[in-house]
Amino acid sequence: MKRLVLILGDQLAHDIAALRFADPARDVVVMAEVRGEGTYVPHHPQKIALILSAMRHFAADLRHAGWEVAYTRLDDPDNTQTIPGELLRRASELGATEIHATRPGEWRLITALDEMPLPVTQHADDRFLCSDADFAAWAEGRKQFRMEWFYREMRRKTRLLMDGDQPVGGKWNFDHDNRKAAKPDLFRPRPPRFVPDSVTAEVLDLVDAQYPDHFGRLRPFGWGVTRADALTALDWFIDHALPRFGDEQDAMLADDPILSHSLLSPYLNIGLLSPMEVCAAAEASHRKGKAPLNAVEGFIRQIIGWREYVRGIYMLHGPGYADQNVLGADRALPALYWGAKTDMACLSHAVAQTRDLAYAHHIQRLMVTGLFGLIAGISPQALHEWYLAVYIDAFEWVEAPNTIGMSQFADGGVLGSKPYAASGAYIDRMSDYCGSCRYKVKDKTGPDACPFNLLYWHFLLRHRDRFQANPRMAQMYRTWDKMDETRRQDTLSEADAFLHRLESGKRV
Ligand code: FAD
Ligand code: SF4
Repeated sequence: MKRLVLILGDQLAHDIAALRFADPARDVVVMAEVRGEGTYVPHHPQKIALILSAMRHFAADLRHAGWEVAYTRLDDPDNTQTIPGELLRRASELGATEIHATRPGEWRLITALDEMPLPVTQHADDRFLCSDADFAAWAEGRKQFRMEWFYREMRRKTRLLMDGDQPVGGKWNFDHDNRKAAKPDLFRPRPPRFVPDSVTAEVLDLVDAQYPDHFGRLRPFGWGVTRADALTALDWFIDHALPRFGDEQDAMLADDPILSHSLLSPYLNIGLLSPMEVCAAAEASHRKGKAPLNAVEGFIRQIIGWREYVRGIYMLHGPGYADQNVLGADRALPALYWGAKTDMACLSHAVAQTRDLAYAHHIQRLMVTGLFGLIAGISPQALHEWYLAVYIDAFEWVEAPNTIGMSQFADGGVLGSKPYAASGAYIDRMSDYCGSCRYKVKDKTGPDACPFNLLYWHFLLRHRDRFQANPRMAQMYRTWDKMDETRRQDTLSEADAFLHRLESGKRV
């Protein structure tokens, strides 16, 4: 009896669990482009194009390797436009009675497969370095989760950057040497862009026709869509950008949206690269003397630390992680997130580059769009849907913990010990945005005061009961209490007026 083997658009690895289990002599691989997956949030057109083109290339590779592949195109007339619908259609067409899948990275799909009327085996997704069981064992009995402790375990487990049982360089973390501001540099190397081949060109036309209303520019499209492209992108990063990665990790420049970031997250997240090969390449570069330890350690920490940690938390929590809202934030998402004009230069730059590239680096997501959402009291669910929609690398297992947990503190501090709240001074220190802004970052109150300065205090005061006792935040409350009474009143009333303007849809 035939069995179906489901391969989803973010499972494009030849050694993925379901394929390792399956037998090309008797099983049929099912891959399906379905409207439901492109529209449950309005995904950026570049993200849809990346996934569809990578799926088509991957299906061709599988056929070449001897697999029978039942592939549904988005505009096939028989397409039921959902994953369960396509599995049932293929099962009845091919007489299959059993389905094998690699466990999806979203509870939405895990549940949909569990509820199928045919038996579905969901094989553990072992592309991750920490299994769900290992994460649960690590978390067991801990009052608080802290990424740094998890990361050290992962260093020991993977043996990355270890000399015996000690970390290379004598320290686990070299962040002290990172986090510098950056200067525009015409000679900063530019990452490779990939010219669309005929498969990608056809997909681009399809996406253009099918998703005309989704936020974001489809062209120019320069993402890689095959494993060979992804390896080219990896090699380029290791040779050209990794040495500066640490220094420039937290910096933001208006005319350089990428700086020395890797742009590897989409390839990692859809299966074209594995986390271990990426980290091993970075470590080898350091051992050959080509990249400094602060850069390589910082980069590896993002992958075996943060990436594995957020997935562990998402899977451990179970369905509903993204529904949390402990701070009770309920303001609607302002139109400026969808490109409406704003006078705040930092937000204007971050959203414009998101529209053009489907990409913003971590600090832009955390300390510009995320920070504004947090201190303005925007609904974390509205932000979650926005982040899930607009970024090329967004899949719920990684996006939701970063948005709901790290950026919005809506999980009550499971992921991080304090909210990432800050005034405009942080953005000014790490970017060149403020110089061209209509607001003045040095103004704390008054008609030109930077909105981040006003909203920062408004946020802290709204949540005083919750945060005052937090040792990492108590100093801020003492500063507020010592502030001149007039300034305190002006700050809060101007913040209220700003929020009122924001809510009424006026340009801010
Ligand atoms: P680099 O800066 O070059 O970092 C190297 C790699 O480290 C990345 O490719 C990524 O795989 C990993 N990494 C770095 N930080 C994180 C992190 N916090 N969590 C998980 N992995 C990390 N990342 C996603 O992959 N998908 C998302 O949907 C996503 N949503 C986010 C939403 C918010 C609100 C925030 C604050 C962060 C989000 N991140 C997400 C994490 C991070 O911003 C991106 O991984 C990173 O910007 C990807 O660009 P890059 O490949 O150039 O990363
Ligand atoms: Fe953003 Fe304030 Fe700087 Fe303007 S002044 S760019 S609003 S931080």
